Amino acid sequence: MNASAKRASRRIGWLAILTIALIGCADPAGDAGANAAADARPAKVYQWKIITTWPKFLPGVGMSAENLAERLRVMSDGRLDIRVYGAGELVGAFEVFDAVSAGTAEMGHGAAYYWRGKMPIAPLFTTIPFGMTAQEANAWLSYGGGLALWRELYAPFDVVPFPAGNTGVQMAGWFNEEINALEDLAGLKMRIPGLGGEVLERSGGVPVSIPGGEVFTALQTGVIDATEWIGPYNDLALGLYSAGRYYYYPGWHEPGAVLELIVNRQALEALPADLQAMIATAAQAINEDTLSDYTARSVAALETLEREHGVKLRPLPAEVMAKLREASLRVVAEAAGEDELSQRIHDSYTGFLAGVRRYTDLTEKAYLEAR
Ligand code: CA
Repeated sequence: MNASAKRASRRIGWLAILTIALIGCADPAGDAGANAAADARPAKVYQWKIITTWPKFLPGVGMSAENLAERLRVMSDGRLDIRVYGAGELVGAFEVFDAVSAGTAEMGHGAAYYWRGKMPIAPLFTTIPFGMTAQEANAWLSYGGGLALWRELYAPFDVVPFPAGNTGVQMAGWFNEEINALEDLAGLKMRIPGLGGEVLERSGGVPVSIPGGEVFTALQTGVIDATEWIGPYNDLALGLYSAGRYYYYPGWHEPGAVLELIVNRQALEALPADLQAMIATAAQAINEDTLSDYTARSVAALETLEREHGVKLRPLPAEVMAKLREASLRVVAEAAGEDELSQRIHDSYTGFLAGVRRYTDLTEKAYLEAR
């Protein structure tokens, strides 16, 4: 709705009140008229901004905030009017957390592992090497104490997090040479961010940090030997099949990246209870929707990659996976550091993972192996 339409709609709202009030005065029974007048009061419209760490309209992750804003607009009958900004439009991708903390924007959409410089334990709320799957992470966050710890971690910054999307298990990435043994990781220059990069380094590789927009050229020109991105859905869109020769799986470093909706605490608490509930519900809906989007579209994208672009799929050898897993345990333990809250987060995550892993082995894994 543009400004003049809003003004017109407010005018109509006030006219309605006036009319009902006059009718109310003339009505000897009074009460019904007074209630109707209260109902017709024009609702306060909250004009908010949501800033994201993703390029505007990027398929999957970039559409989560768009879908969230649209659902909230419909659910609230226009009372929550949220404008979406892609990375760099209002603030840079890596300034999203600070901007929401300061109230520059009321909301943000991104991933907790981007705030690792501020909170080294933050990656546990996105994904860690050999960590939980999407289903397991959702269980930990909702019913295993994870979300309460996440809120405790962000509380000093006046930021309230909600899980709001998941990519599912990613792919290991695009490699220009085959990986047949541990030695093939030696000196391998790979674009791989976060804890996964540290694990690669301890396994002999050289992690390189390059923004998404530069990945294609870096791989094509040989600046790097390999790169991970997300999975078939986004990798196809980025054209990585024409830069890397082999497509390896599985994404040991990002087995189910949780995306986050972050909301400025004062802005959230200033909302009426029904709008606060709508935000929580919309975040849950987006959390599910994004995972479904990734799962469905990656199936189709993988078919296109193999059939139309002749992409060669390769599993990472067991020996390589074993080495990466061993290094991951140390890297994740060290991320907890000395700090008491970080230790509690680490213990909660690893404790829940140990339990759910056994259950997943008996159910999902046993079933999938038999299917
Ligand atoms: Ca990734």
